[in-house]
Amino acid sequence: MRAFKAHLRGIPPYPYKKVEAPVKLDQNESPFDLPQALKAEALRRLTLLPWNRYPEIHAEALRQRLAAQVGWPEEGIVLAPGSNLLILALAAAAAEVLDVSPSFPHYAHAARVTGTPYRALPLEAGEEGFALPLEALLSAFQGGVLFLPNPHAPTGALFPEEALWALAERAKEVGGLLVVDEAYREFSGTDLSLLGRGNPHVAFLRTFSKAFSLGGIRAGYLLAASEVAQVVREVLPPFVLPAHTGAILEVVLENPGYAEAVAAHVRAERERVYAELKGHPTWRPYRSYTNFLLVRTPDASEAYGHLLSQGILVRRQDRYPGLSGCIRVTIGLKEEMDAFLKAAFEVAYA
Ligand code: PMP
Repeated sequence: MRAFKAHLRGIPPYPYKKVEAPVKLDQNESPFDLPQALKAEALRRLTLLPWNRYPEIHAEALRQRLAAQVGWPEEGIVLAPGSNLLILALAAAAAEVLDVSPSFPHYAHAARVTGTPYRALPLEAGEEGFALPLEALLSAFQGGVLFLPNPHAPTGALFPEEALWALAERAKEVGGLLVVDEAYREFSGTDLSLLGRGNPHVAFLRTFSKAFSLGGIRAGYLLAASEVAQVVREVLPPFVLPAHTGAILEVVLENPGYAEAVAAHVRAERERVYAELKGHPTWRPYRSYTNFLLVRTPDASEAYGHLLSQGILVRRQDRYPGLSGCIRVTIGLKEEMDAFLKAAFEVAYA
């Protein structure tokens, strides 16, 4: 095949394999579906829309509502079917992608697919697990786009605010863009948007896939300076947010209270499971500010296999640099976490 650019030859597939199991703790989804009443209202609005007509070109009405809700200028907001697509657009536009390692794998994948030069700096060992290689990042950041999930995936760590301020200043100095991916912010309660006030070199990614229970719907947004948002909008196809996604988001933004309940449940269960796992003789949970726990085990394959034999699906992370033996467990329902803990302690005493 000679139809495609040479750099796409032999590109590794995105690391995800579908496996079925009764207890699904592998994709950092919300364990709760969207409340039925909200689904019904979204469907009602959808039936009233003309399906033969294209939606608004850049989801103007929704952006207006979101702007008022999150307190960000409308011109700096880009809505898309999933923040993954915004990452792809940013990577395509980027002069270079700078990343840390390990990190959310889509940054590296998006850079590879778009043929954008890519560099990653390894995380360091910190007091609570993983820490930012701040000095190395400050000197490596010479321009381009630096993607940084905070709270961080897949470790669950929350980076110190001073470090993010330093990176934001550096971004301004070198004319780069710091993209803080806040996919898990509802589980840490952090809001770093101040970093981006008055600094057009900082942007934020947010998603409806986690606390808002809309993983299947695909919706996320970018908060950025208007000149950054403008570039991302032009890289994305026009009319990118489907009318049905828009109708659902409208209802969700009018009734955001349920997402707070999801986040409160997740935070409480996360702390309970973390505390219990601290008593495990061989598994070591890392402190998490997200809806998952990274757990170091003596053998990830064995841990994964045993959990799966008990009907519990988690995600192996041991192929990532620095994560040997690690598995990642999404925080689910209380009963699911009880089942997970029971199986985890069976390994210990087998
Ligand atoms: N960023 C991070 C850090 C994530 O972990 C994820 C999903 N796992 C995403 C972005 C993707 O979110 P979306 O569903 O909005 O594409």
